[in-house]
Amino acid sequence: MTPLERALRERIAAEGPISVEAFMQACNDYYYATRDPLGARGDFTTAPEVSQMFGEMIGGALADCWKRVGSPTDVIYVELGPGRGTLASDALRVMRTADFAGEVHFVETSPVLLQMQKASVPEAHWHKSIDDLPAKPLLLVANEFLDALPICQHVGAAERRITVAAGGLAFDRDGEIVETSPARDEAVGSIATCLAAKGGAALFIDYGHERSAPGDTLQAVRGHRFSPILAYPGEQDLTSHVDFEALVNAARDAGASVTPLVSQGEWLIRLGIEARAQALSRANPDRAGEVQSALERLTGREQMGQLFKVLAIHAPDWPAPAGFA
Ligand code: SAH
Repeated sequence: MTPLERALRERIAAEGPISVEAFMQACNDYYYATRDPLGARGDFTTAPEVSQMFGEMIGGALADCWKRVGSPTDVIYVELGPGRGTLASDALRVMRTADFAGEVHFVETSPVLLQMQKASVPEAHWHKSIDDLPAKPLLLVANEFLDALPICQHVGAAERRITVAAGGLAFDRDGEIVETSPARDEAVGSIATCLAAKGGAALFIDYGHERSAPGDTLQAVRGHRFSPILAYPGEQDLTSHVDFEALVNAARDAGASVTPLVSQGEWLIRLGIEARAQALSRANPDRAGEVQSALERLTGREQMGQLFKVLAIHAPDWPAPAGFA
């Protein structure tokens, strides 16, 4: 039994069954606080860890958007859940070349990942919550951040809960599941409120679906394989597919403008990732095969290209970032 499972069983014994939302929150708080989950030796690999090209495309899109509003100097770069800081350092390299000199602000709860971010982006400022960000115009990116925020599951009118049965953790009911995520709505709503008031643009990249629909999308990943949800609490990554329709509604309700949703593959190709791959291959011919397979992994329909999607939210008086029209 994992240490967190022992604690959860005590909690259920004292309080009764706990919601999927409370379970996911407890599992991910423990999981991210205690390890670096990324890379071949971890549990999963994210796009910025596949290739520098991913962060470079994002940096290019954000810098271009900023130039088109006249390069205001009070704009800050913000990243939610920056992992090892790889995306930020690749994006900022491009943005600094385009003369963006703004501050860097990270929202991160994991002390382990914060140490890694300090090594890759030493000039950053750290915050535990979105609400602590300075009230300034933002150029924001969140890659695989929203999928880790807790969801609620409902079966009919009842919230689905986790209990102890037959000596183990078990769901209290099955049936057609409808998922909601107040935590995601709140995160996107508060970013959208800031964009509408102060200006800026935000990119949200994640796996998920364009339209809200019933279905159980909660998943656990451990050592690069799917694992049963209730196995090894706190020792495996729990995520769910992002309902982009809910995000669009949260952003519009807060007064921000929203782009069409685009698949990651399509978006990266529109931004010129193929030309970037060619340039990298020409500069390092011995690594051309590696660059080509990274390109395929980021854009291929059977790989990350189709499942992952990109949504931009922006101030009504800022242009949409490139790649969405
Ligand atoms: N964006 C990175 C890492 C994705 S993993 C990449 O693409 O590689 C999820 C990230 O979100 C981790 O940095 C994790 O510590 C952070 N995180 C998870 N839940 C969080 C929360 N509630 N608040 C802030 N950061 C959180």
